[in-house]
Amino acid sequence: MREKLLHRIASFPRIELIHRPTPMRKLAAITAELGGPEIWIKRDDLTGIAFGGNKSRKLEYILPDVLAKKADVLVTWASLQSNWAMQTAAACARYGIKPVLVLFKTYDLPPEPDGNILLDRILGAEIRYREAAKGKIVTQDFALAAANEAAAEYRVLGKKTYIAPVGGSMPSADMDRPLGAVSYVDAFAEMLVQTQAAGFTPNAVVHSTGSGATQAGLLVGAKALAPQTRVVGISVSDEKEPFAQIVWDITEALENELKLDPVTMRDDVLVFDEYIREGYGIVNKEVAEVIRRVFTREGIVLDPVYTSKAFIGMLDLIDKGYFKPADKIVFFHTGGTPALFPNRQKLMEFLD
Ligand SMILES: *Cc1c(COP(=O)(O)O)cnc(C)c1O
Repeated sequence: MREKLLHRIASFPRIELIHRPTPMRKLAAITAELGGPEIWIKRDDLTGIAFGGNKSRKLEYILPDVLAKKADVLVTWASLQSNWAMQTAAACARYGIKPVLVLFKTYDLPPEPDGNILLDRILGAEIRYREAAKGKIVTQDFALAAANEAAAEYRVLGKKTYIAPVGGSMPSADMDRPLGAVSYVDAFAEMLVQTQAAGFTPNAVVHSTGSGATQAGLLVGAKALAPQTRVVGISVSDEKEPFAQIVWDITEALENELKLDPVTMRDDVLVFDEYIREGYGIVNKEVAEVIRRVFTREGIVLDPVYTSKAFIGMLDLIDKGYFKPADKIVFFHTGGTPALFPNRQKLMEFLD
């Protein structure tokens, strides 16, 4: 199964954007504080392009599709301080493709050049700000109209456009295959080599889930390579249902694309929505405190939108006995640290 799967993955065109393997190590101080389970961290925040993160893994498989379709303008959408938008802009810039970012005001941060917006601006991305309801990532139907409008303006100028879905997740718009998710099957395999070198197969992988492809990829990787490893997604925006269905749709498309006999079942999609708290991108005291805790104990910086909430979720699930003291868990750090800076006011308010 392993060879067959890796062979299939290797058949996808990929550009080199990241350093691989990303590092993995045990969170020794936090593990000791908790008295178990043993927590390891997979540093996908250190992928290497811009400030790193899970989107750069996805873009290694998505950019070849953009290049194959000969696009000179890439349009995508996301929230204001989006890691996806920034990493996409960085990857596009390297290949001479103009990035057009439709950024929705899904939380109350000013659209000033700070954090990812500063990086977008340095890269020379075109940014179109749009109003949106607060506390949730915008739905595809809502966002696609604005993306189509931007793309149409460029097509009139004779440009070839490529509309990429938010997060590089759901096969849609011009990305008609689950290319983002493919990269996380690969990431699971990469992690498994590392855990096995360290003498174990994890009982669970915990990560932050937002648009779904990271979870779908990790899940297919787990089911194919280490079926005893649970993949636990901590949602930062959408409720368990219908979000688990989104992950499932990507998972089915992924298995189909990889020409795998189905290895996953709908019930394998594990989503916890209890840790969304006040809503997507909203920083609270718990977020500020977990960032301080992991930073002071381990020297590792979590982000305020995704990985902090996933870490809070993991700690709570340990507390509730969902994870057992003898378990070994790999926590995927999926990046997002530039968003710390535009959130400085809230972070300081809760930490002072
Ligand atoms: C996008 C993102 C996620 C979620 O990944 P999805 O594949 O969109 O579910 C997690 N963490 C960070 C830092 C992200 O930017």
